[in-house]
Amino acid sequence: MTDIDIMRRAIAQARRGDLLPGANPIGCVIVRDGRILAEGCNEVDARHDPTAHAEIVTIRRACEALGVSDLRGATLYSTLQPCGMCSMASIWAKIERIVYGAERRDVHDMYFEDRHFDTTDFIRDAFKDDIQLHGGLLAQECAALYVGPHEAVPEDEQVNR
Ligand SMILES: [Zn+2]
Repeated sequence: MTDIDIMRRAIAQARRGDLLPGANPIGCVIVRDGRILAEGCNEVDARHDPTAHAEIVTIRRACEALGVSDLRGATLYSTLQPCGMCSMASIWAKIERIVYGAERRDVHDMYFEDRHFDTTDFIRDAFKDDIQLHGGLLAQECAALYVGPHEAVPEDEQVNR
């Protein structure tokens, strides 16, 4: 399985999330040693849990399945650049690498909690010995799941406002 194969699975999870009530089109897959440990999508509204981002849902699922709280050596794939919470959760989970599709510049800025600072810049610098981040894999396919950077979205329809 290549990074691209796995990102396509993450995209499939995002599409599943787009159809599920209370879920959202952000997909995640966690892999270690060529084996898929878990996959998931954003379930914030379904679970009434603001922390149920795709990455958190999938980290929890992988840890529960393995009966561990440490995913050392694993790679997390996400269709969208992970937020600060999910990046830090990956570090706490000892995930080795994050690969994401759409980057911040590829989508509307309403998807990011940090309007004036990119948390991946902070993570890349502060945790460079702990985790690697690679963005832009299948970026166009992933970005097609989201509102574009220049699309007009009324203020009251924007997520995260
Ligand atoms: Zn997140």
